[in-house]
Amino acid sequence: MYPYNYHRPTQVAEAVALFKASDDPMYLSGGMTLIPTMKQRLAAPTDLIDLSGIEEMSGLNATAEVVQVGAFTQHNVVARSAQVQATLPVLAQLAGLIGDNQVRNRGTIGGSVANSDPAADYPCAIVGLGATVVTQQRSISGDEFFKDLFETALEPGEIITRIDFPVPTRAAYRKFPNPASRYAVVGVMVADFSGSIRVGVTGAGPCAFRASGIEEVLNRELSADAVDGVEVPDAGFNSDLHASGEYRAHLVKIMAKRAVADLLHS
Ligand SMILES: Cc1cc2nc3c(=O)[nH]c(=O)nc-3n(C[C@H](O)[C@H](O)[C@H](O)COP(=O)(O)OP(=O)(O)OC[C@H]3O[C@@H](n4cnc5c(N)ncnc54)[C@H](O)[C@@H]3O)c2cc1C
Repeated sequence: MYPYNYHRPTQVAEAVALFKASDDPMYLSGGMTLIPTMKQRLAAPTDLIDLSGIEEMSGLNATAEVVQVGAFTQHNVVARSAQVQATLPVLAQLAGLIGDNQVRNRGTIGGSVANSDPAADYPCAIVGLGATVVTQQRSISGDEFFKDLFETALEPGEIITRIDFPVPTRAAYRKFPNPASRYAVVGVMVADFSGSIRVGVTGAGPCAFRASGIEEVLNRELSADAVDGVEVPDAGFNSDLHASGEYRAHLVKIMAKRAVADLLHS
């Protein structure tokens, strides 16, 4: 790890000012991705701006319509929240499937979403539930947020402060986890908003996306069998030592079918 300057602001505006005043800064959240990357010398920020001291970025608020999660909220806080379990159980379940206990105790929703790892779970909830990513300067629609591999709509210095999840009538998430890391080889979220179906996919492509073909058939007939008739092209899908693009396309349908079955029994 190269040397760096460490800052721990207590306000979002202070963090942004520190970012602007530094040569090559990075925000630090749970450090679950950033610290190992720095240790391998794949990232060498001159300044680390630790977001852990900014109180307004932590915690949860749930109403019947929306669940708001502060960006610095750890995965285990979401997984164990009685409010989230009661209002948006699929989000608590998804958070509980991330990595292991150590990762869930340190990793944060803001870090996960800003990182846009192609195999991360939360991005699937962002697109599948149509969440809004809130920063210090604007609100970004979940459909517009993920751009490519590790690339998002965030501008340099922009901080995710909160994520707002609309509460669906019902929803289900299924993932095929990598047995070592638990990252999603493929994960699928199916959400029913009063008869209007959204389907989010993670793990298959360079970033999370909506599966419009599956949405179309499920909007006509909400059944697991309906997914059989959908063609999921594997063009542009990830292909690596864990799974080929073709196998990932197959998994998208299988996970979608299982999620629909769960949703119908919820
Ligand atoms: C062994 C292991 C297993 C894992 N398994 C899974 C899994 O199964 N599923 C899964 O989804 N994830 C998994 N993860 C990822 C983990 O859950 C974290 O979400 C991820 O590492 C990033 O979160 P963090 O809070 O630690 O962010 P950090 O590592 O601190 O930051 C990550 C990046 O986001 C930027 N950033 C952080 N917060 C903000 C913010 N508020 N605004 C703007 N930019 C910001 C940082 O500058 C950095 O570039 C795993 C990680 C490990 C190490």
